[in-house]
Amino acid sequence: ADAAEAAVVVDALRRVADVLADLETRLGRLDAVAGDGDHGRGMLRGSRAAADAAAAAAQDGHGAVACLQDAGHAWADRAGGTSGVLWGAGLAAAADALATRPVGDPTARVAAAVRAGVDAVASLGKARPGDKTMLDSGEPLAAAFEAAAAAGDALDAAWTGALAAGRTAAAATAGLRPQVGRARPLAERSVGTPDPGAVSLVAVLAAAAGRDPQ
Ligand code: ADP
Ligand code: MG
Ligand code: MG
Repeated sequence: ADAAEAAVVVDALRRVADVLADLETRLGRLDAVAGDGDHGRGMLRGSRAAADAAAAAAQDGHGAVACLQDAGHAWADRAGGTSGVLWGAGLAAAADALATRPVGDPTARVAAAVRAGVDAVASLGKARPGDKTMLDSGEPLAAAFEAAAAAGDALDAAWTGALAAGRTAAAATAGLRPQVGRARPLAERSVGTPDPGAVSLVAVLAAAAGRDPQ
């Protein structure tokens, strides 16, 4: 069972890296509007390193939690940039949440993992809602997942609802002005364009869930 769960994590991270390869240029362009244009490159480097690290851990016989923890460390080490450090912390926190809930309702387990990841990003990055960051899609996505778990929804339906909430929220960041990060000095220029980190967060989680991007 441990090997099967580890394989699920490795496969999910491979899909994430594949989707981020497709989105590299688009995310870079979004980041170039008011930031430094490296978001696509950083996300691709981080996710590839994460997938490789998870595969190596699985090869060594480790379970899903250890795979995800190694993936988080590799992502933070290799991505470079603000988002890489935050993604690394988020993955590690999600792994810890899964470790404390080894069994039970799958929707509740994934909801708890997503919540832990988003909370770790919030406490490390100290951005607030509306600051135009990845939290502005992550927070509503996590909240929708928790609501689905509380309602007793099946995992598949929970993903559908949570991803839809995240996508709507990511698109809505176009109306915001960045209050933190590299885009802040050129905040006005960013209005009308969604936050790259908010967009990539939804793409990553959709890929992890095995859904089509967009
Ligand atoms: P950098 O800004 O260092 O070049 P990236 O371009 O990879 O890093 O990532 C930029 C994204 O990081 C932003 O679009 C935003 O979503 C996210 N971000 C920046 N600062 C924070 C923060 N303090 N908290 C949460 N997310 C942040
Ligand atoms: Mg950047
Ligand atoms: Mg940068």
